[in-house]
Amino acid sequence: MSSSSSRASAAPPSLAIHIRDLRKTYASKGAQPKIHALKGIDLDIARGKFFGLLGPNGAGKSTCINILAGLVLKDAGRVNLWGFDADANARQARVSIGVMPQEINIDPFFTPLEMLEQQAGLYGVPAARRRSREILHAIGLMPQAQAYARALSGGMKRRLLLGKAMVHQPPILVLDEPTAGVDIELRQHLWELIRALNRQGVTIVLTTHYLEEAQALCDEIAIIHQGEVIACDATETLLQRIDQKTLLVRPQTKLSAVPPALARNPRLQADLRPDGQLALRYNPHQLSAQDALDALKAATITIADVSVEGSELEQVFLQLTRSGG
Ligand code: ADP
Ligand code: MG
Repeated sequence: MSSSSSRASAAPPSLAIHIRDLRKTYASKGAQPKIHALKGIDLDIARGKFFGLLGPNGAGKSTCINILAGLVLKDAGRVNLWGFDADANARQARVSIGVMPQEINIDPFFTPLEMLEQQAGLYGVPAARRRSREILHAIGLMPQAQAYARALSGGMKRRLLLGKAMVHQPPILVLDEPTAGVDIELRQHLWELIRALNRQGVTIVLTTHYLEEAQALCDEIAIIHQGEVIACDATETLLQRIDQKTLLVRPQTKLSAVPPALARNPRLQADLRPDGQLALRYNPHQLSAQDALDALKAATITIADVSVEGSELEQVFLQLTRSGG
């Protein structure tokens, strides 16, 4: 792909976002050592995707997003947005995406309507093509159109940030943890809104540290961990890889060790926890819960209580980093 000139044809690009070897190190501050936030990231995001950038706090998600938004300067690497190189065609690259930041940065003395108009002005959208009221309607802020932003609730401010990202109708919308700390009702509302945009053809990139959120929304997921992409695949494929269940069993009689019959089972990993519970880890694609219970029976363990531990994201990361991605 040519990176130095603008796109040759007007046809939409097959890749909405193309990132190669993206690096960012934050300089040391006082006694704080420098931080290698991005250690060479490659990402290809096809047009029309609902793409999830998943990772724990501090993984480097916002750094990546903020580089795309032009808010953070990269140290090295190439970024191409909608066919435009972010260095050679900075302006065209920038108008190709709208970014909803993680931090709420809203001037309290403007009204939502004023803010959308101002943002449209910043992007050079002519008055006749502005859609401020339409956007306010879509984000459910029509009743607050003329209210001062300081009077808006946290959830309303988040929706307004999404509205601001949409004023220039970018083909790519990037949302940085849009639902962090918002209530369930607003989360559902945001999900519906974003899904509708995606159905209309907008390429969505969403960062989240909630596995369930990525799972529910995204058709492709990249997992980022300590500044590196450790997995990137279709959601279904990825979940099959990482799906790991833990069955927690409280035995009727206290155990002093994992019974040999269980320890020998190659498809189960059994651990005795300090609280006396027996944890059975297995891949549900290889073993059913019934098989796991049968294995307990074969080891003559009587179950007093049983529960399932969710597939914790941390666990997933450990698994992926251990297996080398
Ligand atoms: P995430 O969004 O995945 O939580 P970030 O990109 O915000 O991760 O942060 C990645 C790492 O870079 C973290 O260790 C964070 O503390 C550090 N970091 C982020 N922004 C800055 C900054 N402006 N100055 C110094 N360090 C930063
Ligand atoms: Mg972040």
